[in-house]
Order: sequence, then structure tokens, then C-alpha cells
Amino acid sequence: AKRVYLFNEGSKDDRDLLGGKGANLCEMTSLGLPVPYGFIITTPTCREFFESGNKLPPLLEQEYRVALDLVEKEMGARFGDPENPLLFSVRSGAAVSMPGMMNTVLNLGLNDEIAAGLAKKTGNPRFAYDSYRRFIQMFADVVMEAGGEQFEHEIEKYKAAHGKTLDTEMSAEDWQEIIRIYKTLVDFPEDPFVQLKMAIEAVFMSWHTPRAYVYREMNNIPETLGTAVTVQAMVFGNFGEDSGSGVAFTRNPSTGEAQFFGEFLFNAAGEDVVAGIRTPLPVSELKVRQPQVYEELYKTQALLEKHYRDMQDLEFTVQEGRFYMLQTRSGKRTGRASVKIAVEMVREGLITESEALMRVSPEHVEAFLHPMVDPAEKTNIVATGLPASPGGATGKVVFSAEEAVEVAAQGHSVILVRRETTPEDIHGMKVAAGILTELGGMTSHAAVVARGMGVCAITGCSALKIDYAAGTATTKEGTVVKRGDIITLDGTAGDVMLGDIPKKEASSSDDFQTLLSWADKHRRLKVRANAETPEDAAKALELGAEGIGLCRTEHMFFEAERIDVMRAMILSETKEERQGYLNQLLTFQHDDMLALFKVMDGLPVTVRLLDPPLHEFLPHNDDEMAALAKRIGKPASKIREITEGLAEVNPMLGFRGCRLSVVYPEITEMQVKAIISAAVDAIEEGYKPLPEIMIPLVVNVREIRLISEIIDRGIQAVLKEKHVSVPYRIGTMMETPRATLGADRLASEVEFMSFGTNDLTQMTYGFSRDDAGKFIPQYLEKKLIESDPFVSLDQRAVGRLMEMAVDESRARNPSIKYGICGEHGGDPRSIQFCHDLGLDYVSCSPFRVPVARIAAAQAKV
Ligand code: PEP
Ligand code: MG
Repeated sequence: AKRVYLFNEGSKDDRDLLGGKGANLCEMTSLGLPVPYGFIITTPTCREFFESGNKLPPLLEQEYRVALDLVEKEMGARFGDPENPLLFSVRSGAAVSMPGMMNTVLNLGLNDEIAAGLAKKTGNPRFAYDSYRRFIQMFADVVMEAGGEQFEHEIEKYKAAHGKTLDTEMSAEDWQEIIRIYKTLVDFPEDPFVQLKMAIEAVFMSWHTPRAYVYREMNNIPETLGTAVTVQAMVFGNFGEDSGSGVAFTRNPSTGEAQFFGEFLFNAAGEDVVAGIRTPLPVSELKVRQPQVYEELYKTQALLEKHYRDMQDLEFTVQEGRFYMLQTRSGKRTGRASVKIAVEMVREGLITESEALMRVSPEHVEAFLHPMVDPAEKTNIVATGLPASPGGATGKVVFSAEEAVEVAAQGHSVILVRRETTPEDIHGMKVAAGILTELGGMTSHAAVVARGMGVCAITGCSALKIDYAAGTATTKEGTVVKRGDIITLDGTAGDVMLGDIPKKEASSSDDFQTLLSWADKHRRLKVRANAETPEDAAKALELGAEGIGLCRTEHMFFEAERIDVMRAMILSETKEERQGYLNQLLTFQHDDMLALFKVMDGLPVTVRLLDPPLHEFLPHNDDEMAALAKRIGKPASKIREITEGLAEVNPMLGFRGCRLSVVYPEITEMQVKAIISAAVDAIEEGYKPLPEIMIPLVVNVREIRLISEIIDRGIQAVLKEKHVSVPYRIGTMMETPRATLGADRLASEVEFMSFGTNDLTQMTYGFSRDDAGKFIPQYLEKKLIESDPFVSLDQRAVGRLMEMAVDESRARNPSIKYGICGEHGGDPRSIQFCHDLGLDYVSCSPFRVPVARIAAAQAKV
């Protein structure tokens, strides 16, 4: 097979064969742009190289020498000819852009004789010897792996000895002296063809550097892909004052404005612009000094953007007044810019709405919803944990919920730092600007609640050791963060920083709303929110939720004035005593539900029956028990006795979920009465409530039947008195492996099902949700798992259970509605999977609703 392609022999569709860089150079050549000519050695040649024990195929050199002859003709210069020398750049380039591989070698083809020839030909010895010393330096560093610092060190030494500080003060003779020194440091090959061969081998070898390997692992790039080698004629921006180098963007990469934007340095090589040693000029300066070059550049950028139909990042060089294009690629951009560019390109007729949707990543969307730590300003990172809830926040460190409330009341922004959080910390979490925990994974209490509130959070930050008594958190390196210190959290990355790090404020934009409206038009999956309070529900609605997919009723009982009633109910010793408290709870629950139905007028609200183990509501220590005893008029000893009776060795697998309904049907009945009576009242006030009652954590069909009877009892009790028809539904959750394996039987008893993938993942893996934060980071680091299964759905096993459940359920009950309300419902990759599974909706925290809308559209288009 052909192993070498000239730039006019390929196109942008040849990425796999020629690498991204090579394919782009071919494309630009065929567009008629002034690209310095060259050739590409294919990626299959890289595979051949490895298969034959790191040896170039025997006929390769012959083949590239033929190509090289043609490049010489095109460029009017000759490789290895001191009279009229042609120099090359040599680069690596895989099908996907891959940092970690070999950097570029520039000016390849120079030696003592040719450098002298170049000096003579150009009449610019300083330029010739500067190029030569740069080449030796790069070649030694990148190809011979001789280490780059020693060369810089020699230059520093030389400058110091000769009273010079700047490169511009170095004469041709100075550089010649430097070259003589360099040659004592490395065994540099003088033969240009040997240089070229060594560089090609080095490019292939760089496929296997540890950095490249890690990058491929992280990004699922196959090992077998291999890299191409691009060999391109050099042009020089540092030839003199009518030469220069620049980079440009076809639109502003930071704001997205459709405005050509770039920087240029006269008499400088491309790397000088990137290195930022001298301050570049705006490209508009070219308009003044070299108008015809500017004209050509401007036309070229417009052509390239139109051709690639995306914002381009270009590199160009001017040599003696002649314009050359070196590279074009899709430009990196901020979240705001990405949305603006996508929307405007649709208006300009450049791309379709579907294409615009695919151009925006979920991370891009976050910038519109949360203040973000400015990446350019990030410093003082002292610890890194799990990125549990996105956004950035700065505040004073507090170590308890009480302290959080107190310090916040004084008008300070606070960061609540806890080993872990429990429902009792809610009041502190509500006032916190950010939450940081030492323990807990991505579905821990802290993570779930923070995401629900849209507050930035980092969990599982095991690099911090928290000492409540001392009021300190100590990092692995020994930095001590004290109570009252100012810290900044980057919940998007998981980084904890000392001090106040600047942030970019969130704010929506018309373009963002336009993009979301396109997403709604294109998606099939519905998007609901997990929310309990009217405030959260209103936020969810504003962000585009089409219903509530999970209202965790237990959250409604943690409010200060209710928790004692809840506790008294749990601690009741007789049915009558319990009923009294249940009646009080019924009032609370009714009022909450009514408020929720009003906000979600005309939209479904899935209300889940009480789920957590009851001891989660009870006090944990003597002081709290004594205080509670006073408040509810029950002896502390009795409280202790009952609390101890409810304690469990393994609460997550214990007395919770629908098991509570089995043992305490009266609690369930109360909840149902509250839901239905609230719906009746809402209807009477002219609203359209659509309650859906959801039974959690079932394992078999008899549970559903038993609990359905209790639910019916509750409903009848309400409707007997009020003659209103309430359109309710009864459904269940798929949270245990056993439920998914018998889904067909369960499906015939209910109207909807919702995957509780937090519990389903916990039980499929046998990884405790609340403790997994202790070992998941190690699992990731040691590559035992690809990603945290509590963040992104494990499609292989958990996904397989889901698929079986959906297929069997639908076979038995074709009209059943299927959703997901675990944390995965807001994860773009998992949303794609749910779309493919054919679910009807996903439900996620309010602040993830926009991301889910876009992800659902991306899954479809
Ligand atoms: C789940 O298990 O996925 C779920 C949504 O319920 P919870 O997180 O409340 O256990
Ligand atoms: Mg659950």
C-alpha cells in the first residue's frame, strides 16, 4: 500500500490515514491556499513500524525520497543543498488530536555547511545561526531526548559571561559560539537525511510515551490507531522586518462575537507568538504595514470558516511579504462563546439546528447556570475531591450547620466543611455558598442535596483531615485551614483553593434560550426535576422541567418545626399515640403538597412514599435526647430505648422503603390522604394537579399489591367525603436487582415505573453509596473502573438490568410509563443511554434540567 501522500493527494476525510493535522493540510492545499508544500507518512506505517520491532519498513525511505523530490520542485529549493537549502518541519499527528505525543521539530536539514549557505543566500547570518541553534536544541530535546534545560542553561551562562540579557543582543557570532558548545553536549547528526529518518522514527516512538498512553486511556482512544508523520517545507517569519508570524480566530473565542480576531509579531517565528516573550500586535496592524497580506489573510479566514462551517483557529506566517497558511483547526472556546457561535451560525445558514446542538457540551451549559471559578485565575489548590455539584464559591470556613447559620446571619458568605452531612445539617447547607466534605461519594447526602439546591459542592475530599474540636482541616501536605479562613471551591473540577479566587458570574442569554428551545424541539425524552419545595419546583419550571419526577417526602419532615412531630410519631408506643402525631403530620404534608401542585399546575408530580430508615430522624447523642425529651414530654430513657431498638447494622439494606409501609401502614395511609386531599383542594381552587404516588424499593409483586390496598384505602377515605375525581396514578421504583429481574410481573400492577439508579447501582455493585467515596478514587486511579458508577450509569451491568426490565415490562404492559430519577438522570452520557433504552423521561436536580434538555436532544439527533 501507498505509505506516503503529498499534500495534494488527500483531503479532510483522510484523518484516519493521515492524521488530523495532515488531513487538514491536504484540505487547505486543495482549497488553493498558500500552504508550504510537504508530504505525510500514513498511520498504518506506524503500525508496521511497531510490528517489525520499531524498524521503518525497508522501502519507506525510497518512497518518501520520491515525494521529497516533488516538494523540492514545488518550493524551488533543495534539501541538503548548501547553495539553495530547503528545510523541513516534522510533526506527529493522530486521527484525534492528542497532547502527549512528540512536539514539532523545526528547521530540520541544517548542518554547519548548510547554515553557512543559508547565511550567504539570505544575507542574514544572524537569522541562519539562530535557526541552526534552535534546530539543534529541538532535535536534541525531542528526537534524541537529551533534555532541553541544559541548552537554555548554556545560553544563560554565555549571556552572563558576555554581559547580555536579551536574545536580540545575540549576534551571528554569538550563536555560532553557542552551536559549538551545543555540539560538545550531544552527538548531533550532520547528514540531513539521517536527521529526517531519526525524526520520523522519533515521531512513531512518541506514540508510546507514558503521557500519550495515559491520555489515550482517559479518552478511550484505541492503542492500535498509531500516528502519522507530517513533513512540511519551512517558511520563516523571522527572516526580517517584512516577515512575521501570527495566530488568529475567525470569531472571538471568549465572547463568541463574529469578529475576526488575531495577533501578529513582526520578524518572529511561530513559537515566539505562542511563548509570549514579546507582546504581539493586533492583526489590524498588518492592515497598515502590509495591506495586501492582510487582505489575503482576511479572505482566507472567511473561506476557511465557511468551508469548515465552524470557528477556526489559524496559524500563519509571512516570509518577505508572502503569506503562508500553516494550520487551521476548530478553535477552542468558552461556554458562552460556544453557544453564541452555534446559534449565530444557524442564523447565518452555515449549520443546522441539530448541528448547533451537537456543538455545545454540557460543561458549556454550566457557565449559564452557576458562577464559575475563572480557570485563568486558579491558584493555591490545596486539595482535590469529587466534583459533586458544579459552580464556584468563596467564603469563610465553618465546621457545623449552626455555625454556618450564625456566620451567614452576620452577612458573610460561608463554606460548610463537614466530614459528611446528614439531613440534620440542612439548615446549614441552605445558607452555605459552598459545601465541602471529607467523606461521601457522588450520591452521598451532601452531593444530592447540594445539586438540588444548585450550590457548589466537593465531596469525598479525603486529602483533608477534619478535626471538629480543633476547628481545622489539614491537607496531606500539612496546610492547615482554620475556622474563619477564606477558601474557594471549584465544584466543577473538585478543587479546593485558599483565598478568594475570582469567578465569572452566571447569567442566561437570549442565545442560550434559543438553543434550549431548539433542544426541546428535537428531543424525544421528557425532562422532569427532583424537587420537594415550591421554591425548588418553581426554579425547575423556570429551567424547563416538565413535571416533578421525584418528590422525596422525607425531606419535608426535616424542617425545624416538623422534625419533633415526626420524631414523636416514630417514638410513639401505642397506635393511638402515633395516630395523634400522624394527624399533625398530615396537615403539614397536605399543605406542602397543595403548594407543590399549585406551582406544577397541569404537570405530573411524582410523590414518593417515605423512604429512609426511621432512625435517621432521631437524635444521636445524650444531649439531644435530653432536649427532645423535654420538648415532647417523654422520658429520655424511653427515647434511648426506642432509638436503640431502631438502630441497624446495615441501614441501607435495612428497614426502609416500602418495608416501612408494610410495618407501619398508617404512615402510608396518612401520606396518601395528604396527597389526595391536597389534590382535591387544588382542583377546587381551579388547578390541575396530576399526582403520581410512587412506592420505593420493592422486591416483589405481593408488596405492591399489599401497599396498593393501603393506598386505595387512603384515597377512598378522602374521596368518600369529597365527590371530586382526582386523576392519580400509582407506580413503583426499580431500585433492587430483584425488582428488575421480575419487572414483568410488577409492571402488570402499576401505571409507571422509575429507575432509582442510586440504589440500583449500590445494590448491583454492592458498593455502599455513602462509603464509596473512600475507595472509588483509588479504583479510578488503578483503572479498576472507567468512571464512577454513581455518576455515569454503568451500562454494562446496571444498564443490562434496566434493559431487561424495560423490555419485559413493556411486553406485559405496553402503556407503562418509564422514567429514571437517580442522579444519573442528569448525566449526559446516561441520558443518551436512557434515550436509547426508550424511556419516557429523565428526572434530575432543577439546576441540571437545562443540561438534560440539551443532552436529550443530542441523544436524538
Ligand atoms: C435512587 O435510589 O436512585 C433514588 C432516586 O432514591 P434515593 O436516592 O432517594 O434513594
Ligand atoms: Mg432510592
